[in-house]
Amino acid sequence: MKTRKIPMRTCVACQAKRPKRELVRIVRTPQGDLVLDHKGKVSGRGAYVCNRKSCVGEAIKTRRLERALEVILTDVMVDALYRDVEGASDGDMA
Ligand SMILES: [Zn+2]
Repeated sequence: MKTRKIPMRTCVACQAKRPKRELVRIVRTPQGDLVLDHKGKVSGRGAYVCNRKSCVGEAIKTRRLERALEVILTDVMVDALYRDVEGASDGDMA
């Protein structure tokens, strides 16, 4: 019997468990910047959210993202996250 393990991660906003590639990883770099890690290659402390604005917004509003990453979000960071996730969502209007 073959079992293929798909790495699952939990969205910090809606708590849904999804395959890793359906989520975006938001990483706090050692420099203290926040970046969206689309390729899973950025090192640093990371949190996962669904790749859509509603979940990114929720994660920010509820401060779950700040808690998960132990970071204080600035307006600049929030703007950048929204811009980045908009660019990333490929026709998914949900
Ligand atoms: Zn979500």
